[in-house]
Amino acid sequence: MRQDMTTEKNQQEPMLELRSLAKTFTKPVGVAGHIANLFGAGVKRIDVRAVAGIDLSVRRGEVVGIVGESGCGKSTVARMIAGISSISAGTISYKGVSSATMTPQQRQDFALSVQMIFQDPFASLNPRMRVIDIIGEAPVAHGLIRKAEQRAYVVDLMEKVGLSGAYANRYPHQFSGGQRQRIGIARALAVKPSLIICDEAVAALDVSIQAQVLNLFMDLRDELDLTYLFISHNLGVVEHISDRVVIMYLGRVVEIAPTEELFSTPSHPYTRLLLEQLPVLEAGERDYKPIQGELPSPLNPPSGCPFHPRCPRAMDRCKRDIPELKAIGPGRLSACHLNVAA
Ligand code: SF4
Repeated sequence: MRQDMTTEKNQQEPMLELRSLAKTFTKPVGVAGHIANLFGAGVKRIDVRAVAGIDLSVRRGEVVGIVGESGCGKSTVARMIAGISSISAGTISYKGVSSATMTPQQRQDFALSVQMIFQDPFASLNPRMRVIDIIGEAPVAHGLIRKAEQRAYVVDLMEKVGLSGAYANRYPHQFSGGQRQRIGIARALAVKPSLIICDEAVAALDVSIQAQVLNLFMDLRDELDLTYLFISHNLGVVEHISDRVVIMYLGRVVEIAPTEELFSTPSHPYTRLLLEQLPVLEAGERDYKPIQGELPSPLNPPSGCPFHPRCPRAMDRCKRDIPELKAIGPGRLSACHLNVAA
């Protein structure tokens, strides 16, 4: 069933396109560095490439999972798409229009169309605001509804996400963790988005609540025609929810594949190691276990293939040449010198 849906979606135009998207953070010299430089130390600012130029297309209605170790750049990608973090290079296009050439109106529409749901629902909800204002403030401010319609609108959204509308006057601390995440989802839905970015959105919840929230995401996709980018360290969650999976390593995409194919026949050595580390548990409890060796620092990335210091199949060439992300089969891409092009 999932493969049929994926094939159908393959024929659609992309809703979101990332081209050579990159983010570089600059570590400043600092006061101590400036003082050291007075004595000729030669301390320089350091550029850290958190995202090293990624390409990705997401079609309407798709659920694309993004997986990788902490520090691989997946959350930075999400924050650039959502407009929370600036872009250092490359482009983000939404429905065929590059964010660099959007009119102010298109930019505002894009900002409302892309909503983010965060890991910690408590930290992302203002504790001094009642739920009716948390959910209902933005749609009134953006003219999507009139103030007089706010209560009915919020009650309807609360019921859509499985909360009683009778609790609209309560504060966030009066809800459980799972309920608070539902408030966060209702707040995101309130501005009628098309694309929802979930950044570890169920990671802080108990396993049983995780399943409920994941099912809610899927119900909302069907009901509201939503597209999801689902960022998670939990491969079991990603396997359960995604149509396609993107594997990232040290700021680069190393493999993209339809979910069933990625889990049954992983191609990239990094993906294989990730899957080999999975304990045989229920899908919802399968948590990522770190693979051997440390993730290199983005401050000092390895030459050639960034995975070569940990790769059991590394060759001399891997220390020199960065492998390109290339097609290795229908809908499949991988960045490894061992691959034979499709
Ligand atoms: Fe391993 Fe070389 Fe492939 Fe990188 S390019 S994943 S080091 S075999």
